[in-house]
Amino acid sequence: MDSPNENPEPRIGANAERNKRKKELAKQKKLKNQEEQRIADTLNASINKQAGNYANSVEPLFEVKPIPGKGLGLVARRFISRGTEILREDAILKCNREFICKEISLMNVPNDKKARFMELQSQCNCDQTPCLETPFQRIFELNCFGFYAEKDFRGPSNTYIYLISARINHDCMPNTAGAFTEEEYVTVQAIKDIHPGEEITRDYHNLRGTTQFRRTILQQHYKFVCECTTCVSNTTITEAQAMVKFAMREKPRNTTTTLLHKATPEEIKKDKDIDQWFGARLVDFAILQRAVDGTVRAQAAQGISTEECTNTILSLLGGIKKNLEDNNAYGLSEELIETHASILTQAAFEKMMAHFAKLKAQFTID
Ligand SMILES: [Zn+2]
Ligand SMILES: [Zn+2]
Repeated sequence: MDSPNENPEPRIGANAERNKRKKELAKQKKLKNQEEQRIADTLNASINKQAGNYANSVEPLFEVKPIPGKGLGLVARRFISRGTEILREDAILKCNREFICKEISLMNVPNDKKARFMELQSQCNCDQTPCLETPFQRIFELNCFGFYAEKDFRGPSNTYIYLISARINHDCMPNTAGAFTEEEYVTVQAIKDIHPGEEITRDYHNLRGTTQFRRTILQQHYKFVCECTTCVSNTTITEAQAMVKFAMREKPRNTTTTLLHKATPEEIKKDKDIDQWFGARLVDFAILQRAVDGTVRAQAAQGISTEECTNTILSLLGGIKKNLEDNNAYGLSEELIETHASILTQAAFEKMMAHFAKLKAQFTID
C-alpha cells in the first residue's frame, strides 16, 4: 500500500540506528578479542619463563589461546599420548579458611599473580540482587578446584585457585583428568591421545546421564550451555562410561613437568600469619557467641517472642563486625569488612536462632 518512497525518514533513522548498534557491537567484540589475546600472551610468556627456571624441564605441551565461543582455553602444541602429565601447578592462595582469609591472602600475593587472578572469569553465585558477594568471591567460586580428602565424598574439604588449570574448558567426555599431589598441587593428565591443535578439556562436574541432565547441572553451576561433541550429538553418558572416565584419573606420579606458580616461602608464611590472625578472631567470636547464647537461654525461659529474640541476637552479633574493625591488621576496606562481617554474622545468627527455637519449645506449654 505505501509506496517505498513515502515517509522514508524513519526507515533511514532505523537503519542508521541498527548500523550504529552493529558497529558498537563489532567494536566491543574487537576490544574483547584484543583483551583475550593480551591475557593469553601474558600467560604463555609466564609459562615459558617458568619452564626456563627448571633445569630438567621440557617445553610446555600446551599454550593458552582464545577458543571461539569459550573465551580462553588450553590447546596442545604437539602430540600428547594418553597418560602424559600435561601440567602441574601450585595454588596461588594457600589459605583454606573462610572467604575473608582467602580475600586477605589475595591482597598479599605478588601483583602479577593478583592480576592473573582478577583476569579470570567472574560470576554471581548467590543469585541475589544486588549481589551479596565481593568481586573476589565471584571469581573464586567459579574458578576454584575442590580438593577431596581421601574417601570423603561429602564435599570438597579444601578449595584452591590454580591460575593456568582454571583456564581449561569443560567437555562432558574430556581428554584430561585432574588429580592432586600430597602438597596439594593440581596435576592434569591426558586420558586420551591428544593431537596438535586440539583443545585440552576437563569435566567440571563428574557428569553422566542424559544431555539434558548434564546441561541443566552445568547451567546451574556455571551458567553456560555445553556445546561439546557429546552434548551436540545428544549422547547419554552411561554409568559404565562415567566409571571409565573417572577410573582413568591416574594418581600423580613423579614427573619432570615444571611446577607452575610455585608459592614462595614468603607467600606461605603470609598465609600462615593470616591463618593465625583468623584463628584469634574465631576465639573472640566463640566467646561472643557464648555470651549471646546465655542471653538467648535466659530470654527463652522468660517466654520472649521470636521477634524480640531476633533483635537481641542481631544486636549482640554486631560484635563480629566491631571485632573485625578493631583488629583490622590487613587493612580491609570498610566495604569488605561489611560484606565479610555479614557473611560471618549470618552463619552465627542461623545457629543461634535454631538454638532459640529448641529452647522455646522446651519452655512453651501449648
Ligand atoms: Zn552474587
Ligand atoms: Zn557437554
